Amino acid sequence: MLALKSLYQGFRDPQTLAKLAKLIADEATLCSEPIKIMEVCGGHTHTIMKYGLNQLLPDNIEFIHGPGCPVCIIPKERIDHAALLASQPNVILVTLGDMIRVPGSKGSLAEFRSKGYDIRPIYDPLDTLKIALENPDKTVIFFAIGFETSTPMTAVLLELAEIRGFANLLFYINHVLVPPAIDAVMADPDVQVNAFIGPAHVSVISGAKIYRPSVEKYHTPLVVSGFEPVDVMESILRIVKQKAQGIAELDVQYSRAVTEEGNLAAQSKIQDAFVIRESFRWRGLGPIANSALKLSDKYSHRDAELIYRDVLPDTKIDDHKACQCGDVLRGITKPKDCKVFGRGCTPQSPLGSCMVSSEGACNAYYRYNGVS
Ligand code: SF4
Ligand code: SF4
Repeated sequence: MLALKSLYQGFRDPQTLAKLAKLIADEATLCSEPIKIMEVCGGHTHTIMKYGLNQLLPDNIEFIHGPGCPVCIIPKERIDHAALLASQPNVILVTLGDMIRVPGSKGSLAEFRSKGYDIRPIYDPLDTLKIALENPDKTVIFFAIGFETSTPMTAVLLELAEIRGFANLLFYINHVLVPPAIDAVMADPDVQVNAFIGPAHVSVISGAKIYRPSVEKYHTPLVVSGFEPVDVMESILRIVKQKAQGIAELDVQYSRAVTEEGNLAAQSKIQDAFVIRESFRWRGLGPIANSALKLSDKYSHRDAELIYRDVLPDTKIDDHKACQCGDVLRGITKPKDCKVFGRGCTPQSPLGSCMVSSEGACNAYYRYNGVS
């Protein structure tokens, strides 16, 4: 029988990692400027910290952790909105995993739950259908978050709600898009990034093609990478080779899962269910034009943001003044430079969003710092 380990152990092989580190160091001597690589995806941040990859790189290469954790980038006011929705008569709010622990301005959804609000964490969006079926007298609202990766699941849920006639199922949509975030990072004068590691899951859905305009506009290499440590190190080698040659190209290291065009069936579901939102405020990055999705007219009767618009204030709410999540998400502060890191803010008692999810940079530093 095929052992699971045999599928991944080659991608974690210490000798292969050491050889890649040597090749990267050799190639980096040919580069005239420091290389600041932003990994957009929180999954890559996790790999970098878990395997101590930052400690394998020469001094002129630095990782800058980006806004790629879907939980971390939701601003406080949207969590407040979710709590307000949960406080409406006869409402059950359904939310994915870690989102329940992210602090809003008046507490996390977990705290509201402990006060008696009917807020239910789930791990499979399809569980929402079961909750709607079992509670025909209640309005069930799905608090949808995530990048291009999870958007198709929400689209399928919408489709099933229609087909099966669930009139009591609404959606509070917070789906965001990666390319506008890359553009926002490049437009920020405080952020000094000159290469990107592109997300894996997002690219499986959207295809590598979505990054081509950014690569051409900013003349910045972008390599779509797998999640294993050998994947990430090979992607860095590919970036450093581009830098040494003075070129900037879109490259796909994760070719065992990512194509240029992506998953066309999933893209078609997204196009059916959503349209581009004019602006969305990202935690840390502020409002970014065309960076998120909202429900298409076809599904406007299921849009909790429209139906409950009178109780959802259009107010911007900043983070706790001690929290530097904004700067962490912009890549200008490392988690350990935040004054409350590991003291006032831990995974057990998070002050900011970046400490909550395992894809958050602060959480990854807390769990894995010191790996060598
Ligand atoms: S969902 Fe996947 S691609 Fe998106 S941020 Fe998380 S790990 Fe990265
Ligand atoms: S350590 Fe906590 S408070 Fe500081 S930036 Fe990270 S999540 Fe925010």
